[in-house]
Amino acid sequence: MLRLPSFIYLQPRSLAEALIMKADAGPDGMFVAGGTDLYPNMKRRHQEPKTVISLMGIPELRKLEGGNVGTCVTLTALSNFPSFQRSAVATAARLVSTPLLRNMGTLGGNLCLDTRCNYYNQGYEWRKSIDFCMKKDGHICWVAPSSPRCWAVSSSDVAPVMVAIGAEYRLIGPQGERVIPAGRFYQNDGINYLTKQPDEILAEVRLPAPDGWDAVYHKLRRRGSFDFPVLGVAAWVQWKGKNVAAARIVLGGVASYPQEVPEAGAALVGAALSDESIAAAAEAAYRPSKPMDNTDFDLSWRKQMTRVYVTRAIQELRTRIR
Ligand SMILES: Cc1cc2nc3c(=O)[nH]c(=O)nc-3n(C[C@H](O)[C@H](O)[C@H](O)COP(=O)(O)OP(=O)(O)OC[C@H]3O[C@@H](n4cnc5c(N)ncnc54)[C@H](O)[C@@H]3O)c2cc1C
Ligand code: SF4
Repeated sequence: MLRLPSFIYLQPRSLAEALIMKADAGPDGMFVAGGTDLYPNMKRRHQEPKTVISLMGIPELRKLEGGNVGTCVTLTALSNFPSFQRSAVATAARLVSTPLLRNMGTLGGNLCLDTRCNYYNQGYEWRKSIDFCMKKDGHICWVAPSSPRCWAVSSSDVAPVMVAIGAEYRLIGPQGERVIPAGRFYQNDGINYLTKQPDEILAEVRLPAPDGWDAVYHKLRRRGSFDFPVLGVAAWVQWKGKNVAAARIVLGGVASYPQEVPEAGAALVGAALSDESIAAAAEAAYRPSKPMDNTDFDLSWRKQMTRVYVTRAIQELRTRIR
């Protein structure tokens, strides 16, 4: 059985207190929310904080009002919130793992989720037996041995939706507060996959007002009741009558960040959603979709499925035209 190492556990009651605790703990301190990602990772010695600072007792982070969502709202609460129920955000939250994990797991933890790889998501002894890898304790990437970077996969279900709908993230750190578009929170590097500084707290997600746009999320995984996405497709459309004024297609599970494919969105703009424009968007999304051989299923099949899932996602959007 994997066991947690010992650590100091702190429970701040305010954001200011949490920042002071993190400053005192230095690089050995980490924030935790539901713990459904961090604690398994600590058991496998991926992350080894000496001090763990829980954000769950900070009332400001539990707020769920209108389009502003505190990051310690659980995935269950998010997916059950009446005004969200039919939204892509709720769909993605509902598709995360199992009910037990959604009851514990939070929006913020999901958006900051560690990237995943078959050579990394293993116990310490397993990783030691291959002399570790670049992401933790080693020097080489076993997926692409000549690569200078890590290709671990962004595996959050909700993050691609946030990028697609153009949500904004409010971050609070020792230097103050900043608000950035969701797309700028992520970068395509399996190790440094967030632009957030370690001492910054993701405090709030601001969802755009519902003014003539629609979004959907489709997920590919082996077991429908449990698994991480090996492909996620978030599709967003701004309508102008029955035509598309703007569109974004964002892929999850194929890169180290939620990957927007601008060419796929552009293929939909300026006309109604026809079979032809949907096929053009699916083809445009297929080309840059480059899954690596480090998660479930055969990678060439996963690439092929990009076309299928993008097609299905946009077809669902077409059914929403008023
Ligand atoms: C068996 C299993 C299956 C899973 N399946 C899925 C799945 O299908 N899809 C999916 O998306 N996820 C999945 N997960 C991952 C995880 O359960 C969810 O992503 C969950 O939402 C993480 O939230 P949390 O609050 O538990 O995160 P935590 O474990 O508390 O935190 C995760 C990371 O985010 C940081 N963090 C958390 N909140 C903040 C904040 N407010 N500010 C700054 N940093 C923060 C932590 O320091 C940590 O590094 C699965 C996990 C398990 C164990
Ligand atoms: S992609 Fe390479 S470096 Fe990154 S976790 Fe996997 S094996 Fe390690």
